[in-house]
Amino acid sequence: MSNDASSSRLGRSTRLLHAGAPALHGGSGPVNVPVVRTSTVRFESSAAYADLHHRRAAGERLATYGRHGLDTHRALEDAVTALEGGHRAFLTPSGLSAITLVLVALLSPGDHALVADSVYSPVRRVDDSLLQRLGITLEYFSPSQDDLAAKIRPSTKLVYLESPSSLLYEVLDLPALAAVARAHGIPVATDNTWGAGWFYQPLALGANLSIHAATKYISGHSDVMQGIVVTDSAALSAKIATAHEALGLTVGADDAYLALRGLRTLPVRLAQHQRHATQVAEWLQGQPQVSRVFYPALASDPGHALWQRDFSGANGLVSFAFEEGVDVRAGEQFIDALRFFGIGASWGGYESLALVASPDRLREHSVWTGTQPVVRLHVGLEDPQDLIADLQQAFARVAQGVELAPA
Ligand SMILES: *Cc1c(COP(=O)(O)O)cnc(C)c1O
Repeated sequence: MSNDASSSRLGRSTRLLHAGAPALHGGSGPVNVPVVRTSTVRFESSAAYADLHHRRAAGERLATYGRHGLDTHRALEDAVTALEGGHRAFLTPSGLSAITLVLVALLSPGDHALVADSVYSPVRRVDDSLLQRLGITLEYFSPSQDDLAAKIRPSTKLVYLESPSSLLYEVLDLPALAAVARAHGIPVATDNTWGAGWFYQPLALGANLSIHAATKYISGHSDVMQGIVVTDSAALSAKIATAHEALGLTVGADDAYLALRGLRTLPVRLAQHQRHATQVAEWLQGQPQVSRVFYPALASDPGHALWQRDFSGANGLVSFAFEEGVDVRAGEQFIDALRFFGIGASWGGYESLALVASPDRLREHSVWTGTQPVVRLHVGLEDPQDLIADLQQAFARVAQGVELAPA
């Protein structure tokens, strides 16, 4: 059976399941690509050595050394490229290194980049600790309140976005922002970790690079750190390839295997996360201690219309703000009281998690001026009635604590 998984006439699940599948040899073969671990690539002759090096230098996606990754890596790259409708995918050791790769590959001393103020906040650490020293200026802007065109300078070489944003899930109007950048010849990179390539297709909406923390939903089981950069053109692939090579970025074959295994079940896991998260979000809206629920799939969410237009679903991330006047300590008491939500960063695994975002951290997001803590929940695949009962008893504990505190 031949399977041209890239055919755009096929459904997206079919393409996702078959892209990167290993060919049969001698009449049979495994379903999954094998884990091919190596440091050294052996060549059959000096002529083959020269030929492969030459072809790699000309841009062919093949390995002449273990650092470049072999079959396992190629299969994952193929599957993610098919998922995103991109030109080429690059694997990196973490989501953060994928972000840094894009910034370093596309920006030079003297360059300026416009960055959405609501991005994953470690981007600001890359800025403070590395890019400023290299003479690169990042300027943060509010994608919903500022006029992007007015912020563009002659030295602007990149627009960097994330939609929906971290913690508060502000949905950006990517087609409109990308049109402005395109009119100025500036590439747009966007962090696509939230949509995981399944709910959101940023390259089709005008972005030129899509960045993933595959650590999250793509791997999906809280056991892998990995990043992926997907490009939309040969020209951008060449720039990313040069920096990827220079930085010596590489991913272990076992981790590439696990990310690919996770990818095959991404649509079913995400659908279930959405069902559970929607129940939790709707329940949270009725709670007296909650002033606002952040979840773009809720009709009351300010980003709902854009989300409906540009996304095909929502994931397990639900944040909520307590009422005004509640302090961070109450937020901490709340998550400490939870039984089924682990306390921890990251998300996208099968399990539920909770984290308190302090008002300090939220001040970076110009769309939010509240002074109360926000709790970010990752709603996992546990039974939602158990999760809701857990949240209910934690609210009761906080209410008790507040009542017991001396006036
Ligand atoms: C977690 C995360 C990252 C970073 O990924 P790591 O693999 O943890 O380095 C980047 N962007 C977003 C939106 C994330 O949630």
